[in-house]
Amino acid sequence: MSETTPLPPGSTIGILGGGQLGRMLALAAYRLGMKVHVFCPDADSPAFEVTPHQTIAPYEDEAALARFAEAVDVVTYEFENVPAATAAFLAQRKPLRPGARALGVAQDRLEEKVFLTSIGVPVAAYRAVTSSTGLTSAVDALGTPAVLKTTRLGYDGKGQAVIRSPEDAVEAFQALSPKPLVLEAFVPFTREISVVAARGADGTVRAFEPAENRHVGGILRSSTVPAQISEALAWQAREIAGQILASLNYVGVLGVEFFVVEDRDLLVNEIAPRVHNSGHWTEAVCATDQFEQHIRAVVDWPLGDSRRFADVVMENLIGETTLPDQNQSGRGVRPHLYGKSEARPGRKMGHINLIRTST
Ligand code: AMP
Repeated sequence: MSETTPLPPGSTIGILGGGQLGRMLALAAYRLGMKVHVFCPDADSPAFEVTPHQTIAPYEDEAALARFAEAVDVVTYEFENVPAATAAFLAQRKPLRPGARALGVAQDRLEEKVFLTSIGVPVAAYRAVTSSTGLTSAVDALGTPAVLKTTRLGYDGKGQAVIRSPEDAVEAFQALSPKPLVLEAFVPFTREISVVAARGADGTVRAFEPAENRHVGGILRSSTVPAQISEALAWQAREIAGQILASLNYVGVLGVEFFVVEDRDLLVNEIAPRVHNSGHWTEAVCATDQFEQHIRAVVDWPLGDSRRFADVVMENLIGETTLPDQNQSGRGVRPHLYGKSEARPGRKMGHINLIRTST
């Protein structure tokens, strides 16, 4: 069955979503001799620039989805908000990797927390919120500060409100309802880290080292590797990522974001069923980067070497179209621009890897 047979070079990988992650996945796939077909409703998508095989159609267009499924050997995605019906439609026709369960869990913050708790992975204390009175009792239970989040479709800090005192609750509820919500206890973290890890169709797991992430206004600014944490904590973070992958019978790359509390405890903030911005450093200092690793997993090739060969800082270029002068040609500087036509505030236009030292 195609589920367990390595796809030969020349096979076609279908990617849902045409953003920079899809573009970088496509570039990695072509490096392995694969073809890529990108499906995205937005004609002005960065991934369309790197492959001639494309479908521009809404994710609900079943005729277009059926033609896409015909044209590809396996389907993957570069964003977690693929509609469930789209995923189910495609999964009936071609292998969908990662599978529908991983997608469903990662699309819904509440489902995600229930799942993580069920497998013994610690998360911040939380309460589901469906009404204004429900929020009042949730705030009573968790205390303030607390963070109210929409359960679905939030990203880069969008769909969130910090409740600093019980009086803030009404305003926060009005701002975010009628969407389903979840209230999280505010985590007094010392740092934020993430692990990008892959699981192959044969069950092999390879995790990259944790990156230490700095966010500004809810958007990732930089990822630094190694993270300033103990080796034991780094191993624990990788173990947790492996446990999540195995529990979801996952095939592909997963991003796991953690809060580090008092440099001792880990809480999972969220998981992303895809390659992750905090894993872009791997392209500069690992033999196999996260994009190739994901492609290897979805075409059922053995996973590659995820070891790191140098220290590195990845900086996002946000809302800027050109490289800062010092980063045009400096020592150890590796820029990557996404070819987006228009820079807008908060828009990720590219990233720069600053390779620091040999290890
Ligand atoms: P998220 O979209 O859930 O990843 O949240 C974006 C950022 O908001 C995180 O990276 C944290 O910096 C911050 N944040 C989110 N949830 C919490 C929390 N429960 N406690 C403290 N900070 C949080």
